[in-house]
Amino acid sequence: MQQTKAPLLTQTGEEFLAEGHAIIREAKGDVGNFKALPLSATASEAADALDAVARTLNKVSGRIPLYSQAHPNPGMRETAEILERDLAAFVTALSLDREMYERVAAIDLSEEGEGQVKRLIERSLQDFRRGGVDQDEAMRAKIKNLKNELVEIGQEFDRNIRNGGKDFILVDGEAGLEGLPADFVAAHPVRADGTICISTDAQDRVPFMMFSERSDLRKAYNHLCSQRAVPENLGVLQKLLETSHELATALGFANWADYITADKMAKNGKNARTFIERILELGKERACAENAELLAEKVKDLPQAKELYEYERGYYIERVKRSHYDFDSQLVRPYLAYDKVREGVMSVAARLFGVTFQLNETVERWHASVDVFDMLEDGEVIARLFLDMHPRDDKYKHAAMFDLVTGRDGGPIPEGTLVCNFPEPKEGDPGLMLFDQVTTYFHEFGHLLHYLFSGKQRFQGLAGIATEWDFVEVPSQLFEEWAWDPAILASFATHFATGEPIPAALVTKLRAAEEYGKGLQTNGQMFYAMLALSYYEIDPKGLDTTERMIELKKQIMFSPHEEDTFMQASFGHLHGYSAMYYTYMWSLVISKDFFSKFRGDLMNRETAIAYRNEVTGRGGEVDADVLCSNFLGRKYNFEAFESWLNA
Ligand SMILES: [Zn+2]
Repeated sequence: MQQTKAPLLTQTGEEFLAEGHAIIREAKGDVGNFKALPLSATASEAADALDAVARTLNKVSGRIPLYSQAHPNPGMRETAEILERDLAAFVTALSLDREMYERVAAIDLSEEGEGQVKRLIERSLQDFRRGGVDQDEAMRAKIKNLKNELVEIGQEFDRNIRNGGKDFILVDGEAGLEGLPADFVAAHPVRADGTICISTDAQDRVPFMMFSERSDLRKAYNHLCSQRAVPENLGVLQKLLETSHELATALGFANWADYITADKMAKNGKNARTFIERILELGKERACAENAELLAEKVKDLPQAKELYEYERGYYIERVKRSHYDFDSQLVRPYLAYDKVREGVMSVAARLFGVTFQLNETVERWHASVDVFDMLEDGEVIARLFLDMHPRDDKYKHAAMFDLVTGRDGGPIPEGTLVCNFPEPKEGDPGLMLFDQVTTYFHEFGHLLHYLFSGKQRFQGLAGIATEWDFVEVPSQLFEEWAWDPAILASFATHFATGEPIPAALVTKLRAAEEYGKGLQTNGQMFYAMLALSYYEIDPKGLDTTERMIELKKQIMFSPHEEDTFMQASFGHLHGYSAMYYTYMWSLVISKDFFSKFRGDLMNRETAIAYRNEVTGRGGEVDADVLCSNFLGRKYNFEAFESWLNA
């Protein structure tokens, strides 16, 4: 097990608040300096002065969301939420600052080529216009209030989910854990009163829904999981939708979906809808066949069964894998101890991109379980990563990459963080992962590489993941592909006790079995995407979010709705991604196309370096469409995705 001796952060909430406020004041100074710039300044000088605001905010803007979601000290989390609001208020006021806009618009670009200066200024003007700077004063005041209100509503929505976990009490002791793996049973001991407690968080939810032999308990547990943040978030969601719509219309858009997609690859809500419908159509046949197979499996237990419920899907998928593919998910776990997987992920990244990772034991961390690594190239530290990978109470419940410091040419090196909830190695427990968690590790590391490989940009405003949001899941889903390769898996997946590498025959079965269910999974993803879009593409006044959800389930999904469940209340993406849940699938289409360039030679350094140079290394220098064409040598298309889906 990795044991860093690195020190812990000692900064208090008050100190952090003071630091954050000082940085926002400094950024206000940068705004003043930019406005005071003489008109004789060149476009290049003006761009540098404009970018100073982003350079200043970069000193703290990454830590704010990270601490609000993952800092173990509640005072620090609260402070981070205050700063989140203050920072957003500053950014909103700036986006509506007419004087600032006019000064940017006055920059003479006539002598500029197609370089970063022009890109930065044009993007800035576009953001100003889209943000409502052209509106009259009364409207700008209204927009400002709505934006600030939205920040608070979003925080409330997230907080309710973060704090909305529930305890599920199994009253009949170990009999309630029938089918669960031994380490799960060991981690959930029978309490003095004879009961066992499991939580609704993902680390318990995923294995329980897959392996529990008790249909009655899975049903009750699933019901409890669908009650997270209920009823609080039903009201908060309504407010979130209504305020978003009001803001979008104030900005001159028909609805929020059109506003939020206007500067994305999709361009408008209608294109997003057409995309979702296209994917649903492409995956329909496969999803239908899979559902029939799962139902046939259920009929073996219940001859009268006519339908398959959501709480049964994970369990029956496991059963089909065992009966049709002779594969048991439990059999691979001994080869997937957390530390081995981490080493495997890093070693793939190192081999592909020619970098190395070195444990850093001097940099301060926010929690003792956080590991810090430096990324080196040609002996030089080019980036730093923080891995906060194991569950804690009050910590972010999913897996995500958090920006910490965005790198820039001549500026700081990039620093990024992964916040996940993977099994933690402990005395006598190697922290065995599910294969699904391994692919998640690769996924999040793909985001991290995207972030850490940018930073060659001259401007802060074009560095980092400064690309269209519907492109951001390309690098993550692309990197997942490496987890599926038998040779790569064998290179790190060795048995925690014997050290023997994972048998090739087991990997072959794993691949065949894990491919199973992708029709239904695609279908489920498109249900989420359509639900999110359908909430945001209309005037939500009078909308019943529950009714809409049930209606869409009927249209799209193969499982009937269960009464008195409200998945939308804990559907965290409804804030943040808002209408853009389709992003994952949109990006998957592109990432499948990208992966076709690696076919036959996964460790091809030349292709990997081209990908790094043309895609991840470019930050927001060009549109995502151009990134795609530069790497592929043509426009991206659906071919690779279609053959994957229906293979
Ligand atoms: Zn992702």
